[in-house]
Amino acid sequence: MRSGGGKRGPAKVAAGTLIGLALGAPAGAQPALGPAPRDGDGRFQNEAGALARPGPGVMLPFFLRRIGSSIFGRDGVRPPRVENDGAFLRENALHSVPTVTWIGHSTLLVQLDHVTFLTDPIWSHWASPVPGLGPHRLVGHGLALDALPQIDFVLISHDHYDHLDLPTLRALAARSEATRFFVPLGNAELLRGAGIERVEELDWGGTAQHESVTIHCLPAQHWSRRGTFDERRALWSAWAVTGPGRRFYFTGDSGYFDGFARTGAELGPFDLAAVPIGAYRPEALMRPAHLDPEEAVRAGQDLGAQKLVAIHFGTFDLADEPLGEPPVRFREAARASGVADEDAWILAIGETRRF
Ligand code: ZN
Ligand code: ZN
Repeated sequence: MRSGGGKRGPAKVAAGTLIGLALGAPAGAQPALGPAPRDGDGRFQNEAGALARPGPGVMLPFFLRRIGSSIFGRDGVRPPRVENDGAFLRENALHSVPTVTWIGHSTLLVQLDHVTFLTDPIWSHWASPVPGLGPHRLVGHGLALDALPQIDFVLISHDHYDHLDLPTLRALAARSEATRFFVPLGNAELLRGAGIERVEELDWGGTAQHESVTIHCLPAQHWSRRGTFDERRALWSAWAVTGPGRRFYFTGDSGYFDGFARTGAELGPFDLAAVPIGAYRPEALMRPAHLDPEEAVRAGQDLGAQKLVAIHFGTFDLADEPLGEPPVRFREAARASGVADEDAWILAIGETRRF
């Protein structure tokens, strides 16, 4: 599903320059992917400035509905789950056939170019600061943590509880001293406080190397908060992992913004992009900071992604849309945009697919 241009080299540079011009960058300058802006208070800021926030008329009923669904549950279609004992994945760490496995929510296990990594790993039952309260797992995880292959590195997009799960990170660090943890700026202290030492912080536009692949910290339009007073003190991001054989993009959480097109121009095309398709209602609250399924398809086209894999739905009940709606709308949106079914993946939890 490459959206034109696409090839690396001169065409890529030309596309980057065009987008740079459209954004008002000086002629000939490459559009920047970073650093992340900050406001006068030193808090990280989105490129578009402060995100629109609805008033109490939207927020209060939303929180009441969330409390209700946390206590009483909600009917709806859950994603299918398949058994995965991890045997192929452990063996494949040697051969590195490019694979992606959906563990659930935004947690993916990815193997490419002889590296194995996880995105936003959460194995906990509760995506919440207080176990017993808040969103809980609706479908079991797709692979036991003990069944994982050796993990070279972990990518964490931001500090929200459904993405940064300290019990899981501690378990991964205890499993192997060699595992590296990559976080956007301002998140390392939280991990170090939990006893995780091999943490590396990157700003938007920053890169790190692991064997033959490059890890890119990239802009996203979102926000952060763990406690009461720490809003936007830690940065949020998307990530890309680019190697000689495959190029992979992970959205994290983001509203739709022109950063997808700029990332596509700079680093695309991607062989596979993971795009979040859930948590989009009520629109007045969710739209600035989350993609709906139609925007997820557009983001994938902006990125120049050959294939998309849908994430961030069906695992934790975070928002008002019916639980089974995101994958249905994602499939329809992909078809309406001319994206073939075999290029817009809706995996079962636990499913491994080659790319
Ligand atoms: Zn979030
Ligand atoms: Zn999220």
